[in-house]
Amino acid sequence: MAFELPKLPYAHDALEPHIDEQTMKIHHGKHHQGYTDKLNNAIEGTDLEGKTIENILSNLDMDNTAVRNNGGGFYNHRLFWEVMSPNGGGEPSGDLATAINSAFGSYADFKEKFANAAKGQFGSGWAWLCVHEGGKVEVCSTPNQDNPLMPGVGCEGTPILGLDVWEHAYYLKYQNKRPDYVDAFFEVINWDDVSKRYEQNK
Ligand code: MN
Repeated sequence: MAFELPKLPYAHDALEPHIDEQTMKIHHGKHHQGYTDKLNNAIEGTDLEGKTIENILSNLDMDNTAVRNNGGGFYNHRLFWEVMSPNGGGEPSGDLATAINSAFGSYADFKEKFANAAKGQFGSGWAWLCVHEGGKVEVCSTPNQDNPLMPGVGCEGTPILGLDVWEHAYYLKYQNKRPDYVDAFFEVINWDDVSKRYEQNK
């Protein structure tokens, strides 16, 4: 089975005014579709065909740039759509809140660290909140379409929250003002989804 572009869990305009409709249409329909198609082309006829994306990325040969870039792009964007919601924002609760407070001191301290990771990633890349076995959480960033599932990259845990800081994710609305986009992202974070990922991977 080839990988398929996942459907957006909400309408293209649902994250307005924080993330605009036109950006969502191009980002999902063109960029994510492109990563999906190129991933399928890269694995067709190889021993990676039929494996899960998590398995492929966890055991990746980092010199395989086609799978690294497009497998990362496929996985990262699938996560990104799901950790946002028009009903998002607010703060985490439950076990995840406890883990965040334990690792960073407070939600505000976490927010600052995550935002700085996103704002400080030079060029294209992603900011992540990852969980390690045992429940410890960590913030890191990665360049391009790399992610923490890949060997030797970033936090090396399981990503439970990711923020795309490629210019294609924000340029139409925010132009050069990446910090404004990063701040807006916190208004749409789907903490219920992030918590579910925390529980499944801790
Ligand atoms: Mn993107």
